[in-house]
Amino acid sequence: MKGRPIVSLNQVSMTYHNASGDITPLENVSLDIYRGDFIAICGVSGSGKSTLLNIMAGIVDPTCGTVLYNGRVDLSKLKDRKRTAFRRRNIGMVFQHMNLIGNMTARENIMFPLLLNNTKCTPEVDEKVMRIISMLGLEHVESNYPFEMSGGEQQRTAIARAILPGTIESGLHTLLLAEEPTGNLDQANSVAIGHILQNLNNELGQSIVLATHDTTLAAMAKTRIQLQNGTLSFL
Ligand code: ADP
Ligand code: MG
Repeated sequence: MKGRPIVSLNQVSMTYHNASGDITPLENVSLDIYRGDFIAICGVSGSGKSTLLNIMAGIVDPTCGTVLYNGRVDLSKLKDRKRTAFRRRNIGMVFQHMNLIGNMTARENIMFPLLLNNTKCTPEVDEKVMRIISMLGLEHVESNYPFEMSGGEQQRTAIARAILPGTIESGLHTLLLAEEPTGNLDQANSVAIGHILQNLNNELGQSIVLATHDTTLAAMAKTRIQLQNGTLSFL
């Protein structure tokens, strides 16, 4: 029993109007994402993976079609503030360029979204922070600044930051979206990130959609979907 999809893309198309002509990386794409899914969106550079993730996150509105959360929330219909608030509470995001804050330690970076959400620092919250730090193997660098961490440690910090608010507020974020999370990492670190995502999916039941052209990472997801010429096909 899969239940209701947590996110539904229905006939989503996206066209960019560039000086050199129109580009349509997504054409009538439909996809349902269910709780517990771990999906890798695969495709060559320029195939539209980032566009798809940005649309799922409500960062970019599709040219046509709808994206519904829990069968009812249409992010494109929400005003900016409500949209940001919804995203903060329901979606964790990890980007290829980690976007860690340079003058904050790993722990401060991880806890930063709690500040934005006005989450009180109770002993229970502290315990959850420690659990996530330990799940991601970051104990030894929690007081380090980003420049004092390896690329793999920085990316694990970004993942911890993305999932922490969900584990505190509602048990879990609805969805973790990761854009080329191993884009800047060597093979060993990429596999380590893959294992961490598998762990989050298996142990916490975190639903994950990632975009990647890294076939090793894609192989570690439960489901692979190819994005090519604007359409999706299951691999
Ligand atoms: P991927 O993440 O798979 O590399 P993207 O979603 O970034 O693919 O890009 C898909 C296509 O859309 C590319 O041809 C890219 O140049 C174009 N594109 C992406 N974002 C924009 C934008 N903001 N404005 C215009 N064209 C864009
Ligand atoms: Mg991309």
